[in-house]
Amino acid sequence: MSFTVAIDGPAAAGKGTIARAVAAHFGFAHLDTGLLYRAVGMKGGDPVAAARALSEADLARPDLRSHAASDAASRVAVLPEVRAALVAFQRDFARQAGGAVLDGRDIGTVICPGAEVKLFVTASPEIRARRRWLEAGGETAPETLDEILAQVKARDERDMNRADAPLRPAGDAVTLDTSDLSIDAAVARAIAIVASRRGPRQGCPSAN
Ligand code: C5P
Repeated sequence: MSFTVAIDGPAAAGKGTIARAVAAHFGFAHLDTGLLYRAVGMKGGDPVAAARALSEADLARPDLRSHAASDAASRVAVLPEVRAALVAFQRDFARQAGGAVLDGRDIGTVICPGAEVKLFVTASPEIRARRRWLEAGGETAPETLDEILAQVKARDERDMNRADAPLRPAGDAVTLDTSDLSIDAAVARAIAIVASRRGPRQGCPSAN
């Protein structure tokens, strides 16, 4: 039986870490849907054609975690035809037997509006920028904290204000603000929320 956990939120809020930990805890499959948009952005050429032809090999590119990839992703992600081309793959993944966790921007609102659990993981832009900066080496990072903060804000702006599938919490999502939480505390809260919701609901719609 399928059981879908939809985790949405802005960049660097902790949703990827939480999604991986929830999937490992419950034995669910995990899909980082940002990788789909990153792969489309990095393929170059016509993004709609790239989205329609996306393959496993595209998702295994080593440069998908780069800043260039995240920037390219948020640019192609504004295109409705790109988003439409990626819906079926995500819904198929969400409905697999054994349970699935998907993290992204529109999982609870568009891809799986009937997901059994919806989390909206967020944190202040300043905290998210600091996390990115520390990950990149802190004082030795190639970019300053201010530069990274400007990038975080620009990406939020693009993701929240696009016409198609903007980043926003679903009405029935539980918001988890990780600004003042350690990773362990945020993961523990997410696991407790999922554990409390296990039980039948309508689930993710079929891919067609
Ligand atoms: O989550 P990640 O940082 O990898 O996402 C990169 C970009 O892909 C986001 O800024 C967003 O524009 C886009 N994206 C999206 N919908 C998703 C996942 C990612 O629009 N479900």
